[in-house]
Amino acid sequence: MDQEWRKCGVCKKSILFNQVYQKCSISTCRKTIFCSVDCWSVHDSVLGHKSAYAEEERAPASDQSDRPRRRVVVSSGGTKEASQDLPMDTLIVVSKLKSYVKAKGDMNTSGDVADEISRFVRILVNEALDNARAEGRKTLMARDFEKIKI
Ligand SMILES: [Zn+2]
Ligand SMILES: [Zn+2]
Repeated sequence: MDQEWRKCGVCKKSILFNQVYQKCSISTCRKTIFCSVDCWSVHDSVLGHKSAYAEEERAPASDQSDRPRRRVVVSSGGTKEASQDLPMDTLIVVSKLKSYVKAKGDMNTSGDVADEISRFVRILVNEALDNARAEGRKTLMARDFEKIKI
């Protein structure tokens, strides 16, 4: 996992993710980063800062925490979705679910069931959206679900 995050502003050496690097304390220099205090000293002498110092920082742990890149998921139907932007709320009425489980199976429902069912609902809706899109519609309809094989 030796992935480069950015380059040192002086020696151009790679600064890797999760690596400690140096920043100049002068606010206008914030965009430049340095692999070591030595490289920062070179920068300091070039720019002739009066009372600057090097600040130690740590590079982000991974690519994603640095710049939020959209992960594009392409399903079989060609649906593109930026998964990170989708609302991940519970999609069902938990109290209704609980009373159904109680009535049907005389069981209690653990707290994580609703999220898991919501995951299934999303999968079904994604499939149905593909079906609606295939027919050139802008409205999701009940019949888009009928074609889904479970
Ligand atoms: Zn350097
Ligand atoms: Zn500086």
